[in-house]
Amino acid sequence: MIRMPGVCNGDAETTVLCHLRMVGLTGMGMKANDLLGAWGCSSCHSYCDTHGMDGRTALLEGMARTQAYLLNTGLIEVSSEAEISHDS
Ligand SMILES: [Zn+2]
Repeated sequence: MIRMPGVCNGDAETTVLCHLRMVGLTGMGMKANDLLGAWGCSSCHSYCDTHGMDGRTALLEGMARTQAYLLNTGLIEVSSEAEISHDS
C-alpha cells in the first residue's frame, strides 16, 4: 500500500505492517496501534525508515490506502454513533 515509485518490489510475500513512529503516540514503551500503520513490501518499509520526511510522507499515504482498503472490505468499520455528519 506504500507503493513507492522506483523502490517498491511489488512482492506480496514480503508484505509487513509498517508502523508509524510519532512523538506522543509511539516510542518509550508505546507501540503504535495497528491502525497507525501501512502494509508495505520489505523495500518500501526500508525506504520509509531511512528517508526522513519523504519516507514519512510515503508511509502516511500508505496508511491512508491501507485504512481505505480495510474500510472498503469491512475488516474495520466506523460505528454509526461515531460517524461524522456530512450534511453540515
Ligand atoms: Zn512496496
